[in-house]
Amino acid sequence: MTLLTLGQGMDLDAGERERVNEHGIKVVHEPVVGIGIEDGRLARLRTEGGEEHRFEVLYSALGLKLRAELALGLGAEHDGTGALVVDEHNRTTVPGLYASGGVVRGLDQVVVAMGHGAIAATDIHNRCELPTEEEVDGAERKAGAA
Ligand SMILES: Cc1cc2nc3c(=O)[nH]c(=O)nc-3n(C[C@H](O)[C@H](O)[C@H](O)COP(=O)(O)OP(=O)(O)OC[C@H]3O[C@@H](n4cnc5c(N)ncnc54)[C@H](O)[C@@H]3O)c2cc1C
Repeated sequence: MTLLTLGQGMDLDAGERERVNEHGIKVVHEPVVGIGIEDGRLARLRTEGGEEHRFEVLYSALGLKLRAELALGLGAEHDGTGALVVDEHNRTTVPGLYASGGVVRGLDQVVVAMGHGAIAATDIHNRCELPTEEEVDGAERKAGAA
């Protein structure tokens, strides 16, 4: 097993270092500068010093970098973590601007992001001013508009 820190420092205490050694875990501190694909899968990693590493399985550590600059630029409020503040309909504090997924505080999972999207879409639909065909005068007004 190899731990790649991707060029970041690892502040291991004495006990952790001992466990790493005990289990024969190699720690590579150099940044990864190249990847090699074989048979459609990631097979090799090359580190800055030119060394190549081959693994059967690679697991990327979890982490999240919020990229909400677009919404923040429009004036949306965020909390102390940088996540956008939304109400129960996923409306941000800017009228007409909705947010879903990783930029919203909560459990960072794909299904949660999809759920946020569905909640926002339903609210947008419900607030839509144009009537649908099923609504009173909907088809008539649409025909008139055409
Ligand atoms: C290593 C890792 C493993 C994970 N494993 C799982 C898992 O097993 N199961 C699970 O459910 N979830 C997992 N997650 C979490 C999951 O990936 C996220 O919850 C999900 O991707 C959030 O979806 P999203 O659409 O909100 O954001 P993203 O998938 O991050 O998509 C946002 C997109 O917007 C783009 N973007 C940002 N700003 C701008 C801009 N200004 N202009 C244009 N484009 C922009 C970004 O480039 C990105 O493509 C994992 C996350 C990580 C990092």
